[in-house]
Order: sequence, then structure tokens, then C-alpha cells
Amino acid sequence: MISTQSSICFFNTLTRRKEVFKPLEAGKVKIYTCGPTVYDFAHIGNFRAFLFEDLLKRWLIQCGFKVTHIMNLTDIDDKTIKGSQKQGVPLQQFTAFYVKAFFEDIKALNIEPADIYPKATDHIPEMVTLIKTLITKGYAYRGEDGSIYFSVCKFSNYGKMSKIKVSELKVGARVSQDEYAKEEAQDFALWKAWTPEDGDVYWETELGKGRPGWHIECSAMSMKYLGETFDIHCGGVDNMFPHHENETAQSEAATGKKFVNYWMHNEHLQVEGKKMSKRLGNYYTLRDLLAKGYDPIAIRYLLMSTHYRQQFNFTFEGLEAAKGAVDRLKNFVRRLHDAAGKESGGKVATFIGKAEVCFEGSMDDDLDIGTALASLFDFVREINNLLDANTVSKAEAADIGGLMMKFDAVLGVIGKVEVEEDLAPDIDVLVQKREAARKAKNWKEADAIRAQLKTMGIVLEDTAQGIRWHKEKA
Ligand code: AMP
Ligand code: ZN
Repeated sequence: MISTQSSICFFNTLTRRKEVFKPLEAGKVKIYTCGPTVYDFAHIGNFRAFLFEDLLKRWLIQCGFKVTHIMNLTDIDDKTIKGSQKQGVPLQQFTAFYVKAFFEDIKALNIEPADIYPKATDHIPEMVTLIKTLITKGYAYRGEDGSIYFSVCKFSNYGKMSKIKVSELKVGARVSQDEYAKEEAQDFALWKAWTPEDGDVYWETELGKGRPGWHIECSAMSMKYLGETFDIHCGGVDNMFPHHENETAQSEAATGKKFVNYWMHNEHLQVEGKKMSKRLGNYYTLRDLLAKGYDPIAIRYLLMSTHYRQQFNFTFEGLEAAKGAVDRLKNFVRRLHDAAGKESGGKVATFIGKAEVCFEGSMDDDLDIGTALASLFDFVREINNLLDANTVSKAEAADIGGLMMKFDAVLGVIGKVEVEEDLAPDIDVLVQKREAARKAKNWKEADAIRAQLKTMGIVLEDTAQGIRWHKEKA
């Protein structure tokens, strides 16, 4: 490991600069990531956010940090209430269905699970306590509609993250919905008094009959599990305002302490230049793509391989290319199993050293995955050349395999690659029969056997060591 825990830099939204990452406690990192609003299947734009967070976490773990990761589940907000009413099922039953779907999706995408997935509806008492503190400290008040609002002009740092000038805001103007534009910034709801539209969704609390606003949920849950100040908070750029601005205001007003040291926001996945979103209807869920036969690992690769602070456009050509890239990596690892050539004369060790330095240096530089992947594919090309010349020894191949597994602990796309020994011996018989047909120039039979193998998902390739074969999907 060339990278050290002190060589990592992240772009911090708070300062709009790359900063050297220094956790509060040496060797430990506490991360909170805004999880899904469970009112529908998550779309692949949402998964771009969750995959960036997965890459961040895997990199920190690779660098030796002990990471504590909390991801909330937003199971009560304007959208979940509307959705459950539309379907005519109780809120809890409605959201439970999408929570289950979310866990199935992240498993398919090989996303490392968080340590805890707190649900907003399980943390109402914590939210009430936090709101009571804000009232006591003079930051919150009850409006004529019975709801409790946060007074933005009382909190001098309001607008710092999203660069809003509080002096230009209308004092006492209020917004009660969870999502609104920067231009509509004003006092926002911490606790929403019950209205007939909420139906049977309410809690009877010291604050009255009602439900929490969306923003207070993440303040209460993050501080409960990670403490009043923690290291990293992530989410998509759409969450920067109002969600994260409001989370910061509520939390810092209540505790008098800095809430989060590093805010990291991923850019959007777009479709034809527009943010992929439910509202615009220009989205694919993971399930849509799996139903079309796409490989979840290719989807993982595609969504993770562009730098997280760069917008990028979803296309099916991009997805095909991602599948090709994943296959190249798997085939390469498979090929290493057969290497038994001459020693490379130090070349393998040099290539390993170079790839390691470049991959790690790139990831340390604000997760520059594009450069990291480019160095990985350079490495694969260089080693492939040596394999073609039969100049990679068994011991060298083992070192290369070790490095690939180390890279894959971060990338999560290669996994366990099946090699011949694991596969049925009758396939070997077919391959040999085809070789014999080829040698006898019986092309018809050779082609027929190749076609037969293809229907079994077996792909053949010519290598310096002879004909090799592997399963299409390892
Ligand atoms: P939501 O379920 O709407 O609360 O969103 C879950 C996560 O997905 C949040 O971090 C959002 O900022 C993020 N997100 C939503 N749409 C996109 C998109 N098109 N591209 C990238 N991230 C997104
Ligand atoms: Zn949140």
C-alpha cells in the first residue's frame, strides 16, 4: 500500500476546495449518506449517488480506516404520504415494499451495506427533542398554521453552503413543503401540524398532532448515530439546497458545534442533458435495465466510472462499453491462471509498481476514478503483451492476480472468476472435439461445436497457450 491515510484529498462543498482529509479520530471515519425516499423503485440516477458513496467508502477502507456508515431511509415525507394514499395502503406497508426492493437492488449492484439503515419513522422522539431544543434556544417558532418553523435569519451561518444571502430574504416568510428552489428560501417547517390531506399519518407528541419535516429527520438520525460533529456527509447536488443547508442550520443551532467537516456532493446522471428524475419521467430503474437483460455489474461500472463531480449522460452505448470493460478485466484475471511462462526479467514487478502508484495516487486525489481506471487498463495491456510472449511466470501471475484483487476490493466488478477446473468436464470434451475438427480442416463441424458451446454460454478464445474457454457471465 503506497497510499497513506494522510495523502487523501476531497473536494469539500463547504469551502469549494480540495482539502487534505483529516478525520476527527485517527484511523476512523464517520459517514452519513442521505438514503432513498422509499416511495418508488430507486432509479439509476439515485444509484449513481449510492455507488459514488460505495466507492468512497471502499477507498477509505482500502486505506486502512475503520468506517462507520449510516444511511437513512426516508419513509415519511410529502412523497411517501402521497404515494401510500394513491395506492390506498397504510404508509408502513407502502414503504416496506420499496425498502425491500432497495436492499435487493444494492445487493445486485454489489454495494457494501451501511452499518445501520435508520428509518425516519423509528426516530420521531429524537426529532421532537431536537425541535424542542431549537424552540428553547429561540431558533424555532410556531406559525399560525400550528406548524413549527426554523427562523433562518436567527442563524447567522444560514446559506453558507448554497451561497444564499440571508439579508435578502423576507423575514418571517414561510415554506411548508419539503422541496423548494433556492429563490424560495425562507423559514422552513420542522414539524408540520396535521392537515386533512395527511389522513391517518400523524404522531401525537408534545409538539402537537403532526409529522416531521424532511430535513429534521437527517439531523436527528445522523447525530444520534455519529455524534454532534462527524467527518463526512454525502448526497447528490440536488440535496445541497434546501436539504443539507437546512440540516446544517438545525444541527448547528441546536448544538452550537460544527455539524460536518466534509460535505461531498455527486453530480447528476443525466438523460439528453437533463437530470434523470421521477418528476421529468426520463428515468430507468435498475429493474428496467435488468429486465432488458443488462448485467448489474456493467451498470455498476458505468455509474461509477465517471468522476463523481462530473455530470454524465446515460446511454445504452455507454452501458455496452461498460460491459466490454468488465469482461476485459474478468478475462484478464482468468487468463492469469494459465500463465506458466519464463520469468519476465523484472518487467512484471515494474508494471505492478507503476500501476499501484498511479491507481492509488488517483484515488487519493478526490477519487479520480477515470485516471485510476486508465492506469489499470494500461497495466492489463502491458501484462497481456507479456502473456502473449509467454514471459510471465506462475509466481509473477500470482502477484498480478493479487494486485487485481486489491484493485477489485475498491471497484467491486471482477468478483470470483470461474476457471476451467470449476466447470463441467464435458465442455472440455467438446472443445477438444472442435480442435480436432479444426486440425482436420472440418470447418463445418468446428463451427457447429462453437455454436453449440455458445448456446451453453461458453466463449472460446485463441491464446498463446492454445484454445481457452470461459462462461459468458462469470
Ligand atoms: P431520493 O430518493 O430522491 O431522496 O434520492 C436519493 C439520492 O439520489 C440523493 O443523494 C439524491 O441527491 C440522489 N439523486 C437523485 N437524482 C439523481 C441523479 N439524476 N443523479 C445522481 N444522483 C441523484
Ligand atoms: Zn438527508
